[in-house]
Amino acid sequence: MDTFTFQNPTKLIFGKDTLTKLPEEIPAGTKRALMVYGGGSIKKNGIYDRVLAQFEKAGVEVFELGGVEPNPKLSTVKEGAKICKEEQVDFILAVGGGSVIDATKTIAAAAKYDGDPWDLVTKKATPDGVLPFGTVLTLAATGSEMNAGAVITNWETNEKYGWGYSPYTYPAFSILDPAHTVSVPRDQTVYGIVDMMTHLMEQYFHNPTNSPVQDEMIEGVLRSVIETAPKLLDDLASFEHRETILYAGTIALNGMLQMGYRGDWASHNIEHAVSAVYDIPHAGGLAILFPNWMKYNVEQDAARFKRFAVKVFGVDAAGKSDEEVAQEGIAALRSFWSSIGAPERLNDYNIGLDKFDVIVDRAMRRGKFGNFRQLDSIDVEKILHMSK
Ligand code: NAP
Ligand code: FE
Repeated sequence: MDTFTFQNPTKLIFGKDTLTKLPEEIPAGTKRALMVYGGGSIKKNGIYDRVLAQFEKAGVEVFELGGVEPNPKLSTVKEGAKICKEEQVDFILAVGGGSVIDATKTIAAAAKYDGDPWDLVTKKATPDGVLPFGTVLTLAATGSEMNAGAVITNWETNEKYGWGYSPYTYPAFSILDPAHTVSVPRDQTVYGIVDMMTHLMEQYFHNPTNSPVQDEMIEGVLRSVIETAPKLLDDLASFEHRETILYAGTIALNGMLQMGYRGDWASHNIEHAVSAVYDIPHAGGLAILFPNWMKYNVEQDAARFKRFAVKVFGVDAAGKSDEEVAQEGIAALRSFWSSIGAPERLNDYNIGLDKFDVIVDRAMRRGKFGNFRQLDSIDVEKILHMSK
């Protein structure tokens, strides 16, 4: 393992009716808060009213930024930072999925930064402070509720980057009630499952390989998700299955499973480039790209892919070569994702070859990437062609 220091400062508040704890979590002295939310799901399912009632109990005046889009935009971040500065907001609450939380992290930093917030995303500048913020999560997927990353898209330049990863961009607290996720529609439920599984696998395929504890933990979480996903999709109202998937999404990317390693993260990088050019759901892109990344890299370390096949999908290895077992594991992942309705090809989103050069260019803007295997522009182009 690499030398590491681990500290995750986010206070996780999990379970039924935990929203009632909001007033005691709002930092002492808060007078004016900004509530950030998405396109309106929280108004339909009643979460909006319940959050406002808690703010009222806490005696806090609330300003609002609604309309945060899936794949949140830089322009929305600027709007939020402007409200914070003009209204002298002293606390921000994200109420939504990963997009709302990522926008909130970036607003919290932009509110304390005088330059263009894109400088923060592109790492030209680093924040030396943020407005305090917390979250009420409504969708199990990204893990953003308990990590320091945020992904923002600049539609003027067709660039989408992850940034953050600093002590400042962890939420102070996150409130997770599985009941808040019961209204998530089927397609978004599937995307969430694909995203959390991909986070687990991006971390699993790493170099070097002395990681028996991490391996067993990741395999165990993956098996739980694979077992629960079809049951949840058969009964979207199940509190119990929502609870399992919600917890899995957080644990998949709160740093617990990546201690001592960097993971690979090439597929996330390529996906960000795809959705910077075509505004597709993050996990829709991952469902297409990740199995092809696997096929492209299987020869790198067939024994690692064999272990994945056996431990995660129960592939029978008797009498077969490592490569054969590895390929069966990749096929098992593909068919599991197809069985729950995840997309298979870029063509499913009407993405043809015409902008592959732009996608490759955006993917390579920060240089070669991937830790399991470093990829260059030719590798990325080949993976895109395998995914078309
Ligand atoms: P999302 O983009 O936040 O939300 C997707 C959709 O789900 C929205 O239309 C939203 O509607 C709806 N929704 C959310 N909660 C709902 C509920 N309770 N009931 C009904 N509908 C609900 O999805 P996400 O997958 O969580 O976030 C995706 C973003 O996160 C991408 O930009 C991706 O790149 C990024 N990401 C971040 C990290 C990280 O670590 N920070 C990791 C992976 C991905 P409304 O807008 O109407 O609320
Ligand atoms: Fe992701």
